[in-house]
Amino acid sequence: MVKPTLIRNAYAIITCDSEDHVFWDSDILIENGFIKQIGRNLSIEGAEVLDASSKFIYPGLINTHHHFFQTFIRNTTSIDYPNITVVEWLDLIYRIFQGVDSDVIYYSTLTALSDLIKHGCTCAFDHQYCYTTLTGKTPVDRQMEAAERLHIRYHAGRGTNTLPASEGSTMPDNMLETTDEFIQDCERLINLYHDSRPGSMRQIVVAPCQPINSYPETFVESVKLARDKGVRLHTHLGEGENEIMLSRWGMRSLDWCEKIDFIGEDVWFAHFWEGTDLELQKLGATGTGVSHCPTPAVLGGFPILDIKKMLNYGIPVSLGCDGSATNDSSNLLDSLRLGYMMQSWHSKQRGGSVSAYEMLKTATVHGAKTLGRDDLGSLEQGKCADLFMIDTAVPELTGALHDPKNLLARCGLTGNVWLTMVGGEVVYSDGTLKGIDEAEEARKGEEVCNRVIRKPFAKYF
Ligand SMILES: [Zn+2]
Repeated sequence: MVKPTLIRNAYAIITCDSEDHVFWDSDILIENGFIKQIGRNLSIEGAEVLDASSKFIYPGLINTHHHFFQTFIRNTTSIDYPNITVVEWLDLIYRIFQGVDSDVIYYSTLTALSDLIKHGCTCAFDHQYCYTTLTGKTPVDRQMEAAERLHIRYHAGRGTNTLPASEGSTMPDNMLETTDEFIQDCERLINLYHDSRPGSMRQIVVAPCQPINSYPETFVESVKLARDKGVRLHTHLGEGENEIMLSRWGMRSLDWCEKIDFIGEDVWFAHFWEGTDLELQKLGATGTGVSHCPTPAVLGGFPILDIKKMLNYGIPVSLGCDGSATNDSSNLLDSLRLGYMMQSWHSKQRGGSVSAYEMLKTATVHGAKTLGRDDLGSLEQGKCADLFMIDTAVPELTGALHDPKNLLARCGLTGNVWLTMVGGEVVYSDGTLKGIDEAEEARKGEEVCNRVIRKPFAKYF
């Protein structure tokens, strides 16, 4: 039996619950990884006590779109995303993607997850579509290993691309799979890792990369498998491919997805900045989610989502970093603030923006809904004890502490959080990750990056 944990004297607990409660000068009691009680002067025999004086406590952030493997392909000097077209970017970046091996998958995942944890993330989804002759079928298995070491909740999106360039995709031939290979591996991963119980640490999502780079049967079979196994579906959509879908299939991407039933409460799309008003209403009516990734939207110069309208339509809008080839970082707090700034950009023309607190909820409660986790996303009795704390007794936050709900998106946080906890277990505190020797893993990761990526592809760096 694990000892209960009592978090004492938190300056403020920002719950993100349905009534938006904030508890001042209060405690949190945790038993077996779940929150037992929030209130004042709590006590329990034999508890591990954690003093949270001067700390603001938030629900752990939930990242709903990422590509960890790109973390070793960031800050590429000659591939300057804002200054080239998307097609030029794809042509260049895929030359490097082909060189990714199993060690890059492991260490880039460790790197991305470390960054996420240090900035308050406790549950991460990754869209892993990089299957090369060097990785074989092991990427999700290697990612599970990394997530296990850091003790973060991990939802793995098993991606794929099946359509060759000769038939109109943008994929190099040696990164293609067949639909059968893909479906079989999804089934293997679901059987091996997927756990849908409350408090689950591992889940699998069936996530073909994008409709224009696969045969339709890949998506059709994905829907069948996911519904049969009760797992979720994810893909990139509405990110500039509608013209191609219209010329290829005579319909826009969402209509195509609707036709094959790749829509509904168990589905979410990354980006969707091309959506028309009617399409947004359809997402809302069907409960289909959208993962908003602010950083690549800004770097790529894409239209800015109208999140206020989307939330009014009932769309679960969540937050994602997206891959490091178009973000260069895995800091979700950074994306939170940028996302808020982007919403404000059009607020006067659009009749108002979402509040900074509403943006925080995209990264907490809406993220949980998107991933189908009613045990995550808020701090309340019965939910997982996933949270992070920031220290308010620092000069850079002086004068901003009267409104903890809006603080993170509005003021931002300089540096790392003070503590991150997953399922009642401290995974980061005192500036140190608990699961790994940081200097040693950074050294090994750099060695892998040098050997597999930086040297063989030196002309891009
Ligand atoms: Zn993406």
